[in-house]
Amino acid sequence: MADQLIRATAAGGGIRVVGVITTKLTEVARQRHQLSYVATAALGRTMAAGLLLASSMKRPQSRVNIRIKGDGPLGGILVDAGLDGTVRGYVDNPAVELPPNAAGKLDVGAAVGRQGYVYVVRDVGYGYPYSSTVELVSGEIGEDITYYLATSEQTPSALALGVYVGSNGVEAAGGLLLQILPRAAEDLEMVATLEQRLSSLTGFTPMLRANKTLPQIFEDLVGDMGLTILPESQLVRFHCPCSFERMLGALKMLGEDELQDMIEKDNGAEATCHFCNEIYRTSSDQLAELIADLQQDRQEANR
Ligand code: ZN
Repeated sequence: MADQLIRATAAGGGIRVVGVITTKLTEVARQRHQLSYVATAALGRTMAAGLLLASSMKRPQSRVNIRIKGDGPLGGILVDAGLDGTVRGYVDNPAVELPPNAAGKLDVGAAVGRQGYVYVVRDVGYGYPYSSTVELVSGEIGEDITYYLATSEQTPSALALGVYVGSNGVEAAGGLLLQILPRAAEDLEMVATLEQRLSSLTGFTPMLRANKTLPQIFEDLVGDMGLTILPESQLVRFHCPCSFERMLGALKMLGEDELQDMIEKDNGAEATCHFCNEIYRTSSDQLAELIADLQQDRQEANR
């Protein structure tokens, strides 16, 4: 199944269901950042969460940033996801590897750390982004984001995130989000039912690896509760809007002295985009052009 996001409702619109498959985009991130197994799982889960969170926003340019900062060896995780289906992200220490946990799974909780924060910013695209911070629950990311949704956004939610990494790379990745909307939220039993159903499933990645489609998984979960699957599926992908021109713009901000220094000491400049690990190289000639631009800007300002 291609990387995609599918929406549905149940219980007469009282339950919102979103599923996302991120297998290919997580593999793109793994290769770009040369992520270890556990780093692939940590970043992959966070990217799936970002896409699921962004999916409930309304304005086309809306984006969600999730920063997770725990006390584990992985360092921080940063993900930027949009309602348009694009996502990018990185971890501070991509090479960190840990032995499996007691359940034989990738030990994301130990890699992220159990003390720390989840910081979420929702930006609808015209300023005044909404941001909120909660403490980490387990560092496993799914539980941490669920806690964030329940406390900061007051939306009772059940969330499953999964990444399966085999010896040839990412074999399955994605997530499922079930949310009780305000008019149904008083029904606490429903929250408990959904949580129970989600936890009784064999896990999200095993279902994907068994070739279940998102609609089939939705059917398993809430098929008896008046499930309505929205017909359009949305493609999702790893995408970073960085470019050589943007990098030149950022270099220009450093000012003439700094640029002159780069020409004399390094014979050019090299900049790496944190989000996608793309390396941009500039020659001394290009840096000299930037200096000439700055000098011209200054002369025009003085005129
Ligand atoms: Zn980039």
